[in-house]
Amino acid sequence: MSDLGTGPPAPAAGAGPGQELLAGRRTELGPRGLAVNRTLPGRYRRMIGAWCFTDHFGPVDLSRSRGMRIPPHPHTGLQTVTWLLDGKVLHRDSLGSVQVIQPGELNLMTAGSGIAHSEESLAEESRMLHGVQLWVALPGVARGTIPRFEHHAHLPRLQDGGVGVTVLLGELAGLCSPATAFTPLVGAQFTLAPHATAHLPLDRRFEHGLLALEGSIEADGTVLGPGPLLYLGTGREGMTVRADEGATFLLLGGEPYEERLVMWWNFIGADHEDVVAARHDWMTGDRFGAVAGFVGAPLPAPTMPATRLRPWGRVR
Ligand code: MN
Repeated sequence: MSDLGTGPPAPAAGAGPGQELLAGRRTELGPRGLAVNRTLPGRYRRMIGAWCFTDHFGPVDLSRSRGMRIPPHPHTGLQTVTWLLDGKVLHRDSLGSVQVIQPGELNLMTAGSGIAHSEESLAEESRMLHGVQLWVALPGVARGTIPRFEHHAHLPRLQDGGVGVTVLLGELAGLCSPATAFTPLVGAQFTLAPHATAHLPLDRRFEHGLLALEGSIEADGTVLGPGPLLYLGTGREGMTVRADEGATFLLLGGEPYEERLVMWWNFIGADHEDVVAARHDWMTGDRFGAVAGFVGAPLPAPTMPATRLRPWGRVR
């Protein structure tokens, strides 16, 4: 997967607190699909903990956009995290799950050994669409785990003055998400009222990053608006984030992911052969099962590159 992430030269991996601004790149979800800004994997910075893929889409007016319509496609070796600020998205998968997701709820799909799903925005129910889709790489020991789908309508939340926090994955400020995680990590949404200041408690063993979704924030001397991802390194016990006007942002963090992996199309594996096998099984109808109820053909896998896929680590 190529990318055009830009930013200042990065410190060495594991070097402690730092800052890198990952600009990301514009791409599309699905064929002629929804425009997204993809900040991970970046040119140099591939991951934050096990977070390995960060797509931010919208806000987009669905009366003037095709919206999200991703036909059935497979995944292996990862979890997909779908989180909306506005709109509704219908998820179907090969386990038979059918779930409408709306703002404030979490869809978490653990692909493990293999699953297929489709995702469609419901324009007739909500005119706007705004959200993120994030991937979490499974550790090698869980890469082949049994596929499962979780919908969490109720997540731990805290409101303290002008600061609201919802914990999607992992634990923060004593709030523990019920969502299944396979590595030590955190994902949380903060909502700041105008002129609010949030004091983020951080785990110093984790590396962290911030992604602004609405409005702009000031963190560690850097002003961050929607678009880039601000990587913060490891070794921080806390951070102060301010918003002059209202803002919503995500905190993503995790223990540095030290294994190497191969990521191609919608698959994560240990090596080239894992991906070749997953692609073969998708194209022959094995392993992944069918997504019932979706009107239209599944997505064919792209042609693999002529060269072998090389495993990479958390940084290039
Ligand atoms: Mn998908």
